[in-house]
Amino acid sequence: MRTLPLLAPVLAACAPESRWAQTQAICGFEASALDVAAFASPPRYPSRACVDAVLDDFGLDRGLLLDADGLTDPYTLVEGSSDGQGLIDGLLWSAHALIASDLGTLDAATGIWLTDAFRTTLDDIHRTTGQDALGPLLYDYVTGRIHHTTVEPLDAAAGMRGRTLVLVDLPVGIAGSAVLVHEARHSEGLQHVACGGRMICDPDATGALGFELAVHELARDAADDRVIAEIAETWLETLEVRVLSPPVGAVRRRSR
Ligand SMILES: [Zn+2]
Repeated sequence: MRTLPLLAPVLAACAPESRWAQTQAICGFEASALDVAAFASPPRYPSRACVDAVLDDFGLDRGLLLDADGLTDPYTLVEGSSDGQGLIDGLLWSAHALIASDLGTLDAATGIWLTDAFRTTLDDIHRTTGQDALGPLLYDYVTGRIHHTTVEPLDAAAGMRGRTLVLVDLPVGIAGSAVLVHEARHSEGLQHVACGGRMICDPDATGALGFELAVHELARDAADDRVIAEIAETWLETLEVRVLSPPVGAVRRRSR
């Protein structure tokens, strides 16, 4: 058994590189600023291989989606022929926002919602992948937590059952990415608590809403124009009231 101590470094060397790195190597997306163009029209996916790489990262059940209402072509976003929010369009748009958006680096990031739980989660991924940029870290977080993606009727933008993402209708761009981060956090066992008779709140900032709010806060601070900053701010104001014990800065902001 003298070889045993050697196993750990060998296994570490064989650890898969990040899904972000693998997919970006196929897609070659240009880094994009968070500006109004990122919300106004869907991103261009350069190839079928790129689309497949992203859908594989999310374990998408393509057969099921092809049978879903209103979805006739899973690659309409690539063709540029869809002005609606097809289910796959929404997923591809949200995924692209994480893969290519410049959200800055984890080290330099500051914010009310960047809790120790959020930072520790991304720092664990940083140690595995060596990645510093927030978009790639978040992409690897989401795709590491979500193993399958399917479609079912649901009274929400999306939902999580174990490691399966139930896709409904994501908001566009980085706002959809924030929902994906929210759902990924649920897969770590953090569920909502009741408020106003509905199970839509979190006890504190370490839950799914806190992680979603962190993405909106990063988007606001990285935004290249006022429109995007205001959209992110609106999301922050809408969602933070559902965190029962929010961070101090959020309470102050709300009472302004
Ligand atoms: Zn939730």
